[in-house]
Amino acid sequence: MTLEFRCADVGVACRNAARAETEEELVAAVAEHARTKHGVELNDTLVDFARTKVRVTGGAAGG
Ligand SMILES: [Zn+2]
Repeated sequence: MTLEFRCADVGVACRNAARAETEEELVAAVAEHARTKHGVELNDTLVDFARTKVRVTGGAAGG
């Protein structure tokens, strides 16, 4: 199972998709991306919001 977060899903004009095996790793990756690419420090509120937008990918069927 792979978790994916796309900036576009939270209304950011950015085509980046962060992926990780665990939610903890994904949040870390998203936080780093937000900081380096968007100059945004994720606080608890933003992290909670981002978690609601996480997709599960890498399934066998479809895609
Ligand atoms: Zn982005």
